[in-house]
Amino acid sequence: MQATTQLIHSIPVDPLTGAISVPIYQTSTFVQEAPGVNKGYDYARSGNPTRAALESLVAQLENGHTGAAFASGLAAIDAVVKLLETGDEVIAVDDIYGGAFRLFEQVYRKFGINVTYVDTTNPENVLNALTPKTKLIWIETPTNPTLKITDIKAIAAIAKEHGCWLCVDNTFASPALQKPLELGADLVVHSGTKYLGGHSDVIAGVVVTANADLGQKIRFYQNATGAVLGPVDSWLLIRGIETLHLRVRQHSASARAIAAFLQSHPAVDKVYYPGLATHPGHSIAASQSRGFGGIVSFSLKEDTQEAATAFVTSTHLFKLAESLGGIKSLVSHPAQMTHKSIPAEKRKAAGVVDSLVRLSAGLEDTEDLIEDLRQALDSLLAKKTAAEQRPTAAAPQKKAVAEVVV
Ligand SMILES: *Cc1c(COP(=O)(O)O)cnc(C)c1O
Repeated sequence: MQATTQLIHSIPVDPLTGAISVPIYQTSTFVQEAPGVNKGYDYARSGNPTRAALESLVAQLENGHTGAAFASGLAAIDAVVKLLETGDEVIAVDDIYGGAFRLFEQVYRKFGINVTYVDTTNPENVLNALTPKTKLIWIETPTNPTLKITDIKAIAAIAKEHGCWLCVDNTFASPALQKPLELGADLVVHSGTKYLGGHSDVIAGVVVTANADLGQKIRFYQNATGAVLGPVDSWLLIRGIETLHLRVRQHSASARAIAAFLQSHPAVDKVYYPGLATHPGHSIAASQSRGFGGIVSFSLKEDTQEAATAFVTSTHLFKLAESLGGIKSLVSHPAQMTHKSIPAEKRKAAGVVDSLVRLSAGLEDTEDLIEDLRQALDSLLAKKTAAEQRPTAAAPQKKAVAEVVV
């Protein structure tokens, strides 16, 4: 049986009523026949049947042992970090998700957990950063927003050899395209807010573990610290996952067409998409994923924040917002949004130049999305031409812009 068929039919029909959709068990507690004698549930922080259906679904989706659902992607990441003890060290991908960076630096560092950030696209950098205290390696692939690719198998081999865990934040690829546990990772986390939910209507997170032991530990922290996903939100995530494969196929097809279009437009400088043969991670991405995903980033020839602002405020279908992976296409400007708090020099060194724009291809028709981008890019070029042709009055302003570019 194929993966999608198997997935859809692994969502159980309700044994009590025959309901084909998983019931939302909106309850805090469960009546017991005698103290400790119950039907598998006693209190809804520890376990809820709607959440349990979601947790076994994501475990299956990632081909892992145990799934655990959390109130957000960050709560899921937090549960994994809680596996560590004071003095343990972490090696993390250098362009890690900003919220994970904040968690490591502003929450866990003061408890004596030190994180070293390296460019994990070269596994040697990970080898060189290892110390006897390294307990966890943390990667994302593709990364945000320049979609750098790390070889999961190679890093998993390093982790295994040195007795540490590998956790992959699989949010950008989604399990429809990439299953890190099959490549040797020990843990996978997701912001379910993105592709798993898929409709921009829920904040959620999941952890899936490769084995029972890690599963038990994560479940312990889930219950002990309590950032569980509620039953309605669990249901929304199940509902999203039901169409995950179908959606990701379309997101990816549009993103690939958009990347090709952007490469051909005279206002565009660099295009970042792992599906392009020119992308440095292309062959690794092709070998470890079944597709290249729905995110495309690009920079403008006119590399200024003003040009990027003009672009992101002149698209109609691509809505200006943080987040990704939903039905509606989104556009964001990392330098002024997600990456604003990173010093300009550091940001630019990581490829996040002033004009870099990130697109999340939604489920609108591909041609309409390309048309929307075309009109916004064309109007940028038209504005530039008009400014260049404007007589004397515009001259000082033109000079100022030229100075900034230099
Ligand atoms: C959004 C995101 C998170 C955080 O998830 P929340 O649901 O917003 O808490 C973590 N990792 C990546 C890669 C993300 O894109």
